[in-house]
Amino acid sequence: MKTIGYAAKSSDAHMVPYHFERRNLRDNDVSIEILYSGVCHSDLHTVNGDWGDQPYPLVPGHEIVGKVIDVGSDVSKYKVGDHVAVGCMVDSCQTCDQCENHEEQFCRNGMTPTYGAPDRQTGEITQGGYSKHIVAREEFVMRVPESLDMARTAPILCAGITTYTPLKKFGVKQGSRVGVIGLGGLGHMAVKLAVAMGAEVTVLSRSAKKEQEAKNLGATGVLVSDDKEAMDASANAFDVIIDTVPVKHDLNPYTPLLDIDGTLVIVGQIGPMEEPITAPLVLGRRRVAGSLIGGIKETQEVLDFCAEHDIHPECKMINADEVNDAFAHLEKGDVAHRFVIDMSSLSVDA
Ligand code: NAP
Ligand code: ZN
Repeated sequence: MKTIGYAAKSSDAHMVPYHFERRNLRDNDVSIEILYSGVCHSDLHTVNGDWGDQPYPLVPGHEIVGKVIDVGSDVSKYKVGDHVAVGCMVDSCQTCDQCENHEEQFCRNGMTPTYGAPDRQTGEITQGGYSKHIVAREEFVMRVPESLDMARTAPILCAGITTYTPLKKFGVKQGSRVGVIGLGGLGHMAVKLAVAMGAEVTVLSRSAKKEQEAKNLGATGVLVSDDKEAMDASANAFDVIIDTVPVKHDLNPYTPLLDIDGTLVIVGQIGPMEEPITAPLVLGRRRVAGSLIGGIKETQEVLDFCAEHDIHPECKMINADEVNDAFAHLEKGDVAHRFVIDMSSLSVDA
């Protein structure tokens, strides 16, 4: 199928319109017209080559919602017209212990990311959601609950699951004290989800500028990470801290904020950090952990959780030709929401 998207042609290039082909339907494939696609900081990292060389031209995007326009002969879960979603993965081996345990993100044979990786059957490079259409195998397609507004759902597919999984894994429940470092796409979903789980949530931000946004999302307020006095006064104040900072930073100001047995979960930065001071870890049995997206079953679960709790991400709608501006904002980290591309702004005939 002919389609159109926005692609990076190299690591120093802007995103430009790109005509390409989606594969013919396999028996277990679902063909989707993409309606909305979220813009994740990981898209920017990937396009910039922060995580190594990429197979350009590359169409990013892994927060995808749309409607089914065709199904393969073996597809049983979906029919034409259904509202569906695709997240950060489009395939995995489906046989290893991690896949059987519904944690395909840790597939022993390597999961296939939604963009920039070879298709398991043909070796053709996968292309993501900044496009009009996508074809994905049924097992990696999720159902969008009816009560969710399609225009405000896409960010659940990455920002939502990436914060929901560690909140659950590290035991956040009614009365938990949760800190969220960085109020951007992931951070704002972490606040909404933790509040819905019954936690008391504080945003840790570089300044007080996002205080009103933090409160609107349900947080009690903002703790400014440069304010030494306020940071000192918050020692032992959190059970779980979710760290979404996308660049190299120092963890040492944050670990003493954990209570005994508390966990700081890194979901943002990948790479070397400042030298960690181990005393707070040893003296309080505190932990530093990491977390990568979440499995398909749990991604469906977070979609259902959002429907049940009436949680919608804060989406700032943009046209496809505004994606470079959106990247510039992510680079600065000056937004407390997610940019979402309205795919009706793109035409295959353009
Ligand atoms: P984002 O919307 O750009 O938000 C990041 C926030 O971090 C900013 O809003 C800012 O909040 C804070 N920040 C601190 N220092 C910054 C700096 N020097 N430059 C920019 N922002 C800074 O990004 P996102 O989409 O939430 O993604 C956050 C990170 O998570 C990225 O590194 C992304 O690749 C990663 N990620 C990981 C996974 C996973 O599975 N582990 C999944 C998706 C994304 P304040 O203004 O409040 O300080
Ligand atoms: Zn993402």
